[in-house]
Amino acid sequence: MTETLLAAEAATLPQTRHLATAVPGPRSTELHAERTAQVTNGFGITLPVFVTRAEGGIIEDVDGNRLIDFASGIAVTSLGASNKLVAERVAAQLAAFTHTCFMVTEYESFTKVCAWLNRNTPGDFEKRTGLFSTGAEAVENAIKIARAATGRPNVLVFDEAYHGRSLLTMAMTAKVNPYKLNFGPLPTEIIRAASANPLRPAEGLAAGAEAALESVEATILEHGAGTFAAMVIEPIQGEGGFIVPAAGFIPGLRKLADKYGILLVIDEIQAGMGRTGTLFASEHEGVAGDLILTAKALANGVPLSAVTGRAEVMNAPHAGGLGGTYAGNPLACEAALAVFEQFEDGKLLENARRIEAVAREILEPLLTSTNVVAEIRGRGAMLAIELADAATLEPRADLAKEISSACHAAGVLTLTCGTHGNVVRLLPPLVIGEELLRDGLTVLAGAIADAAN
Ligand SMILES: *Cc1c(COP(=O)(O)O)cnc(C)c1O
Repeated sequence: MTETLLAAEAATLPQTRHLATAVPGPRSTELHAERTAQVTNGFGITLPVFVTRAEGGIIEDVDGNRLIDFASGIAVTSLGASNKLVAERVAAQLAAFTHTCFMVTEYESFTKVCAWLNRNTPGDFEKRTGLFSTGAEAVENAIKIARAATGRPNVLVFDEAYHGRSLLTMAMTAKVNPYKLNFGPLPTEIIRAASANPLRPAEGLAAGAEAALESVEATILEHGAGTFAAMVIEPIQGEGGFIVPAAGFIPGLRKLADKYGILLVIDEIQAGMGRTGTLFASEHEGVAGDLILTAKALANGVPLSAVTGRAEVMNAPHAGGLGGTYAGNPLACEAALAVFEQFEDGKLLENARRIEAVAREILEPLLTSTNVVAEIRGRGAMLAIELADAATLEPRADLAKEISSACHAAGVLTLTCGTHGNVVRLLPPLVIGEELLRDGLTVLAGAIADAAN
């Protein structure tokens, strides 16, 4: 069996699944009780185990269990949760200085991160970049920049979108529970249009890009084309269910944006940075956004986000109008530079594509051997299984939950997502070893088969 992997080769944490206790084990259960006594109830939890170490494709917990990581901290630690080069660079920066605030005094790593993004994001035009800390902050700043550049107020977002949990971005996010429930009033000037979900087209629309694009254009015209600063779209909708839009939808949005002078903002926060087998997921669509947003895997777990885009748009805000105390913190910039270096030889992108091939080989037989797998979709190492009755397409959130619980108990950390909560998603680190990947996928396939019976 070939090991295509990077971190696995040098791992000090054994790259094998191991159950020492039940999952969660007794020590995790104790710590979780303490957590409940101290931490706000507002934070949910996928799997209440407490982590001691994580590396490559493995998370080790306080009870000595080694779990297979199919989450990467939600598409963040793509290079493994203790990537050596990232750790070295951050440690060196930590010893030199931790923080100056880029708005007070400067450091070169900030510029270098911006230069790399300007060079490597889609779009053959002059670009500028601004760095921030979280994904939601990048989205919010993209809206500030787009409004400054166009002088227009409205923001077009889409069905099943996820853009964050801050006040503006939760308004842009589609799903009410858990993201928006009880948190209103929400900011206005956010208008939602149909997306092109191939399996579940918007109410009353035919499947495919064409009908969705007609509906989007109607929505734009209804509110006045001249009122929109930006339209914001994920190249693969993440929290919404790993929905790959119908072919032609995103290129069609590019055309509508051009037609009406609206800026196209591509939110690559989850799908970008190599996750889908290309550096940016919009490359699959042959489309360049006027602005492109990155975060999550950008600095492999050190908080960093970016807005990159056309120089004239990015330079529209007045000096002093953008920033943030921690925006582009030097530790995060060093981490990002270490990430960029490891993308250079193309092996990580190859790994993402290899992960897809192995996953499809193991999971696709379930499309015919069970009658509850409606679709296996995604690109590269961003893959999902939608659970629904084959005949009626009735979403089966109960099965997604049951399958995830079975995986967790067996030592495989999976996540769910989707508007209906009926999607199991896979976001393994790009450095996961093939043997480990196959082990985790075999557990998952078994859990799906059991749940179907
Ligand atoms: C996670 C995510 C965000 C928000 O990022 P945070 O760092 O959690 O604020 C925005 N857009 C997409 C597509 C995301 O997946």
